[in-house]
Amino acid sequence: MSKHAPVKKNQTIVLTFEDMTHEGNGVGKIDGYPVFVPNTLPGEEAEVKVIFVKKNFAIGKLVELKKESAHRVEPPCDVYHQCGGCQLQHMDYEMQLEMKRQQVGNVFKKIAHITDVEVKPTLGMENPWRYRNKVQIPVGEKNGELITGFYRKKSHEIIEGMETCIITDEVNDAVVEKVRTIASKLGIRAYDENIHKGTLRHIVVRRGKQTNQLMLVLVTRTKTLPHKQDLLDEIIKAFPDIDSIIQNVNGQRTNVILGRETVTLYGADYIYDTIGDVKFAISAKSFYQVNPDQTKVLYDQALAFAGLTGKETVIDAYCGIGTISLFLAQQAKQVYGVEIVPEAIDDAKKNAALNNITNAEFVVGEAEKVMPWWKTQGLRPDVIVVDPPRKGCDEALLNAMIDMGPERIVYVSCNPATLARDVKVLSGNYEVKYIQPVDMFPQTSHVEVVALLTRK
Ligand code: SAH
Repeated sequence: MSKHAPVKKNQTIVLTFEDMTHEGNGVGKIDGYPVFVPNTLPGEEAEVKVIFVKKNFAIGKLVELKKESAHRVEPPCDVYHQCGGCQLQHMDYEMQLEMKRQQVGNVFKKIAHITDVEVKPTLGMENPWRYRNKVQIPVGEKNGELITGFYRKKSHEIIEGMETCIITDEVNDAVVEKVRTIASKLGIRAYDENIHKGTLRHIVVRRGKQTNQLMLVLVTRTKTLPHKQDLLDEIIKAFPDIDSIIQNVNGQRTNVILGRETVTLYGADYIYDTIGDVKFAISAKSFYQVNPDQTKVLYDQALAFAGLTGKETVIDAYCGIGTISLFLAQQAKQVYGVEIVPEAIDDAKKNAALNNITNAEFVVGEAEKVMPWWKTQGLRPDVIVVDPPRKGCDEALLNAMIDMGPERIVYVSCNPATLARDVKVLSGNYEVKYIQPVDMFPQTSHVEVVALLTRK
């Protein structure tokens, strides 16, 4: 590659797209120099205006398609190009699944130097729309009225006129819209992050897909919520079946949505949902997968890879509220879960009791510290399941796994790049048997993978 970029800002070029980034941008190359262009697809050719130039790459804007992919579709969402939420709505679902499979294969090649394992076809949804069970919408103001909508790409400006989000449960949409109108009519002010004033920051709605239970969370800057009783009365009148209304107080200047304090304003502290045969209590702050149908597919796959017969001791590291642990407990002798967030472990214990599961034990702590301690206590797992956050496993945890030497490791990952990095560390002792992508987030470029590793 030459030292200087082969393109200039504002120049118009013609590109052929061969590949796609994990953000869903098409990649066209000029003598190996990549130009990233949103809203293009592999196999397409287009006239592109260069809008940003760096030494190693440029970003372009689609001017005109010259050759269109057979997989291109009209994005069904009205605000697709403004909103940053989805990246793949212009691609048919069949290609989305295939792209995700290829992406996983590519990172295993590039990062883990593994080429001899087949990546299975991505497990997709029959209907890849309206799958999200949770919506978190920022609240703003315009002309004295409250407005709600997602932020415009790379900004904090609310997209106006966004009536619905077509990957979200319809009921959640309806609740957001109603709460907005009621709060607006009562004169409740939106939080203004520029001056750190006002009240209502976000409206969060969660729905138990199997139980139809509904939780509304009003995120406010202050604990005082003006017109609280009128607001509650009207919301309950509009949604008489609502199970829980929670106020979450977030007084910080931050992009993090939820604050520390929660107050139950009406109904229960929890709603319930089931995945397979297991029932879960979900509180306002606990992590719960957003696509329950595919969560079942993912956990079934993890369970199949774990190969349990009823005799095994299993560790579930990064266990959250114990979702995978309790799934595994149905077929294992004993399960041990570890998780860093104390409230999540409280939930996990409650969930075990709720399901009369007595062979699961949960511990609060850093998995990388608790596992070596377990080893000194004589714990010898047959299977270890890990489901870490995007940054992957701590190196100490990988070493602890090698040290404990289970027959099988089942690695659930929401970031194939860190999965491949960690697999490389394990590869002296463990061999990759299967790599199975599961589409948890249709229409977006996110990929979830479950991999089975067996001891050499
Ligand atoms: N398996 C769960 C949660 C996965 S999300 C489920 O499917 O629902 C990853 C979890 O790892 C989060 O709950 C997070 O709090 C936890 N976590 C992050 N760092 C950790 C660490 N060092 N040790 C233990 N848990 C950690």
